[in-house]
Amino acid sequence: GRPVVAIVGRPNVGKSTLFNRIAGKRIAIVEDKPGVTRDRIYAEGEWLNKYFTLIDTGGIEPESKDIILSQMRRQAEIAIETADVILFLVDGIQGLTPTDREVAEMLRKSKNEVVLVCNKIDYNALNESIYEFYELGLGEPIPISASQGLGIGDLLDVVVEKF
Ligand code: GDP
Ligand code: MG
Repeated sequence: GRPVVAIVGRPNVGKSTLFNRIAGKRIAIVEDKPGVTRDRIYAEGEWLNKYFTLIDTGGIEPESKDIILSQMRRQAEIAIETADVILFLVDGIQGLTPTDREVAEMLRKSKNEVVLVCNKIDYNALNESIYEFYELGLGEPIPISASQGLGIGDLLDVVVEKF
């Protein structure tokens, strides 16, 4: 089947904004088992004539701050089980957090292709905020601004290269 690309990251890092930037057609979700489909959203993606299934693993974000970490672990597990390429999205304005470190550790231990993506780099002067994320051990952070639509083409070049 098509390669699967999953977006993982803390609430508010911009997963849905990035998803909507990349997504073409929404894929109808027929199943409605609690905890199986409602917590993720699917779309069809295409870049340079390469087609893939895109998943926003944060489809429904946790209501309570207490469960953010457990929800993040679950998101990462979903991505590790189902994705060929995982986009691990971090927030360049908020900076590196303990939750980012936990998720990074799970992703490093997995065999999946992982692309570290630093969002909210809305203008060049913010570019230096990507460097602290090198310590996550997931390679070079790719700067994007999902809301401004910056860096998306360069990101997708890297993603489709991994199929
Ligand atoms: P999610 O919870 O990870 O799905 O994040 P959302 O996509 O819902 O975005 C959370 C907030 O971050 C919203 O207020 C967005 O407008 C904002 N946001 C998303 N992308 C960017 C960006 O590139 N730059 C800035 N400054 N804000 C962004
Ligand atoms: Mg969201």
